[in-house]
Amino acid sequence: NNLKKYFPIKGGILRHTVGTVKAVDGVSFTVRRGETLGLVGESGCGKTTTGRTILRLEQATSGEVLFEDKDVLKASSRQMKALRRDMQIVFQDPYASLDPRITVGQSVAEGLVIHGIGTPKEREERVREVLAKVGLHASQINRFPHEFSGGQRQRIGIARALIMEPKLIVCDEPVSALDVSIQSQVLNLLRNLQREFGLTYLFIAHNLSVVEHISDRVGVMYLGKLVELASREDLFREPLHPYTKALISAIPNPDPTARRERIVLQGDVPSPINPPAGCRFHPRCWIARPICSEQDPEFAEKRKGHWAACHFAGEF
Ligand code: SF4
Repeated sequence: NNLKKYFPIKGGILRHTVGTVKAVDGVSFTVRRGETLGLVGESGCGKTTTGRTILRLEQATSGEVLFEDKDVLKASSRQMKALRRDMQIVFQDPYASLDPRITVGQSVAEGLVIHGIGTPKEREERVREVLAKVGLHASQINRFPHEFSGGQRQRIGIARALIMEPKLIVCDEPVSALDVSIQSQVLNLLRNLQREFGLTYLFIAHNLSVVEHISDRVGVMYLGKLVELASREDLFREPLHPYTKALISAIPNPDPTARRERIVLQGDVPSPINPPAGCRFHPRCWIARPICSEQDPEFAEKRKGHWAACHFAGEF
């Protein structure tokens, strides 16, 4: 609820604060149990920071994060330890997220060790089970990360999260570092695991096709704000925000009869240090009118279950 994460920018010899990056600036949404909520946007839009702040890997500047009515941001370190079992993350880079000095078995078991779960023998048994669930062979338990391909390493990353029997997994661009041919295998694995274990995903990605493939609902972020949120069907069939429409128009479609008119946005994403006044998208919006540079549009439910932050939502 109204989540904010600002980073101070230090400068000068004394390293004093010379500005603020508003990476996440008042974002509110709900992730329903058992669903996949896709969070999409260009790099620098704040989607990864949102995910990390929800898990308290970054300290929020303000706002509220409720997990089954427990206030995550106010949880004591003991309460947080319990919450961490329920809320796991799969990182973007399967090459950087695994410690090269420890075996895959040790890496996957790490959460169990930290939380003091099971005897060493029980942990090893559990690691073997989880490795099998993610499509790896139990005999690979004593190998090191460098012996695996990118796709296999991401499976190990998923196993690390899965072994804690979490309820929510924040998937932070889990396939963007992988070859396209491997991406769909990992996405299908995530979907199968979701079905089998009743998992809930917050799925962060910059690639709209990937989000379309896996999400039940989709949120679109632009420059630290959530600008649209809807079911996958509504969002892709009838986007209400011009930015979403432009993103969708850029998805390649192999079917020539179904090709959409490509909307090419002018200019780059402005700096989050001094974002434009009013609607942050107005310098790039082809339907902007004077009110857009003066008044920040409210993020409001324009149709049932379909939210957008635009003064002229759907009027294009
Ligand atoms: Fe464009 Fe105005 Fe809507 Fe912003 S509020 S997206 S500038 S029409």
